[in-house]
Amino acid sequence: MFLGVFDLFKIGIGPSSSHTVGPMIAAKNFLSSLETNNLFPLIHKINVDIYGALALTGKGHGTDIALILGLMGHAPDNIDPNIIAHTVAEVRAHKKINLLSKKIINFDEQKDMALHMEALLPHHTNGMSFSAYDDKGDLLCRENYYSVGGGFVVSDADLGRNTPALVQAPVPYSFDSGDELLALCARHKLTVAELMRANELVLISEQALISGMDNIWQAMESCIDRGCTTRGILPGGLKVARRAAQHFEDLRSSQERQLCDPTVILDWINLWALAVNEENAAGGQVVTAPTNGAAGIIPAVLRYFDRFYNRRGKDGIYDFLLTAAAIGSLYKKNASISGAEVGCQGEVGVACSMAAGALTAVMGGSVEQVENAAEIGMEHNLGLTCDPIGGLVQVPCIERNAMGAVKAIDASRLALRGDGKHMVSLDRVIETMRQTGADMKVTYKETSKGGLAVNVVVC
Ligand code: SF4
Repeated sequence: MFLGVFDLFKIGIGPSSSHTVGPMIAAKNFLSSLETNNLFPLIHKINVDIYGALALTGKGHGTDIALILGLMGHAPDNIDPNIIAHTVAEVRAHKKINLLSKKIINFDEQKDMALHMEALLPHHTNGMSFSAYDDKGDLLCRENYYSVGGGFVVSDADLGRNTPALVQAPVPYSFDSGDELLALCARHKLTVAELMRANELVLISEQALISGMDNIWQAMESCIDRGCTTRGILPGGLKVARRAAQHFEDLRSSQERQLCDPTVILDWINLWALAVNEENAAGGQVVTAPTNGAAGIIPAVLRYFDRFYNRRGKDGIYDFLLTAAAIGSLYKKNASISGAEVGCQGEVGVACSMAAGALTAVMGGSVEQVENAAEIGMEHNLGLTCDPIGGLVQVPCIERNAMGAVKAIDASRLALRGDGKHMVSLDRVIETMRQTGADMKVTYKETSKGGLAVNVVVC
């Protein structure tokens, strides 16, 4: 199955694609399926059960809030972040919820939404079970859903119990590995972006592709700008102060001095990544790229390219996004982009790899150099654990994005200095990442039971 630019980049809300974007979509999908089967009018009661890593870190990541909003019919790509707090407070105060904005029922979160931290559903650690009952207390429908990273959601039904697999029109350049991608580009004399564009245009119109990528770029830009001007303390109880606005002010007020500092560019890249991830931690609107936890890396590297090198206007932006999506799709197909499955190498590592390859492409690198940069971007994130303090996507996540953005640029520069020949292929490093994730102790996979999460005292 072809995964395109809108599978890897989705506009959503913070702080976590697995914990907020996925559950919101799952809750809405569950009720929509009841509507399709004419059961929606019969709903009298809804229960939501949350399992595994989703239960362990769900409160800190806003899963409870996302589920309430999803049951009300909100979607991550169009919800106004400014209404979230008020909407959820109303549900909690009145113990009533307006399902899909069409039917009000009683809903007491304390009783109707349960966390099962030690239990797992069969297919993934980020599991949710939705149950709907009629006015006699008889079960109308129960379905398990899994938030598998990057806002992707699958249900037991999707996994083959009773629904057919999604049929997709065949794309002209189908690839499942880095080697296949390289071979296709060589055979047809295409760049990665040209190949991806040809595949996309089988599925959507050129206008839809362009306007969709414009929306993604605009959402990334707006997110950076909001993060650069918003001060305060991040929610969740860690009392983490937002830093980006102060950094921005400092950088703007010292422009003459910056002329003497050849490394000042790093300050700007750090700033843009911090700005996005502070917005994400605050529950603001971000682009999952390919996850929310790692949402700052690609916008920071893309703005770096745009502000300092881009001579092609929006075409440069489009090629960057298309190339990054091609690389991200390889991780999604052959390993994982979920911190709960493979640790932070699956989030920050993948975003770093995508950004490194995409930057190399738009800086004029060959397809072999693009593959080399993507490989370097992951090779030096192998084994990166997921250990968010307090279950919040704040420490180490926010700074980790700044480090990932700078590493991506360095990976690109290394690849551009070479000729594309290298020892470890992208496919080998993706497989190594998958194996490393499988071997990693579960405590280092978004449970907040290991690493920094247990070695830093939270007062
Ligand atoms: S440590 Fe990495 S994988 Fe874990 S929540 Fe933070 S950004 Fe995501």
